[in-house]
Amino acid sequence: MKRMMMVWLLSIAVAACAGGAEPSPTADGRILVAASITPLADFARQVGGDHVEVITLVPPGASPHTYEPIPSQVEQVAKARLLVLNGVGLEYWADKLIQSADNPTLIVVDTSQGIEVLAGTAGEPGGNPHIWLDPENAIVQVGHIRDALIRADPTHADDYRANAERYIAELQALDQEIANEVATWSNRQFIAFHPAWVYFARRYGLIQAAVIEESPGREPSPVDVARIVETAKRIGAKAIFAEPQFSPQAARTIAEESGAQVLFLDPLGSSLDDRSYLNLMRYNVAQMARSLR
Ligand SMILES: [Zn+2]
Repeated sequence: MKRMMMVWLLSIAVAACAGGAEPSPTADGRILVAASITPLADFARQVGGDHVEVITLVPPGASPHTYEPIPSQVEQVAKARLLVLNGVGLEYWADKLIQSADNPTLIVVDTSQGIEVLAGTAGEPGGNPHIWLDPENAIVQVGHIRDALIRADPTHADDYRANAERYIAELQALDQEIANEVATWSNRQFIAFHPAWVYFARRYGLIQAAVIEESPGREPSPVDVARIVETAKRIGAKAIFAEPQFSPQAARTIAEESGAQVLFLDPLGSSLDDRSYLNLMRYNVAQMARSLR
């Protein structure tokens, strides 16, 4: 349902554009791009280069699963030319945000178009939204951002194409780098904080043996904890993964009871000093390596 709504809104946005409305550049003439999460903001900066100003809606420390846009962000989206979304229901708050922003020239970019979606939890009827954590999907998402920037600002089409091409080559190299690293790991099973790593696991032949919070923000029951501890012991988990956007308490309890340590994965990269996607992926692979190598 959310997905259909998004497609409908996208058509409206495109129709509004075709109507000849003027683009809305920033004071210095750059294209204002609002991106939902940190990795998408980085993609937009990589492709847009000097021609764009990018803002990230979900702030550091917050999770898109529990986020609510604040009025100043609605104002920013009202002035933006592009709204870059992950899609697959991650931005369940986007429809309301787009309505409130009431921006007839806004191009809404659903970067999940064409990506094969894996099954989600009970609260995710549209599927698991964490597509960006597979670099091959990230390449598709970068392509959608490139196409939307070209539509919004055809004058700089060649730059957007060249930037995207350069960056996609970096993503391909990253993919190979991760595959080489994972090939050295002796353990392939891990316990995640929430089901963020299913695309990553599928790409690199890993297995998400259990998750602490199926629905992020809802803490596990004592029965869940006991079951996860049992799984941790069975797979010989050296680490239980927590995430900086949520309380590590449950992970600590499970780690203590299964003789593992707590390590932090960050699927958004917003807790890192370098918030680029390349750094986000390398950070997470290094954390996993400490447990699985
Ligand atoms: Zn998530």
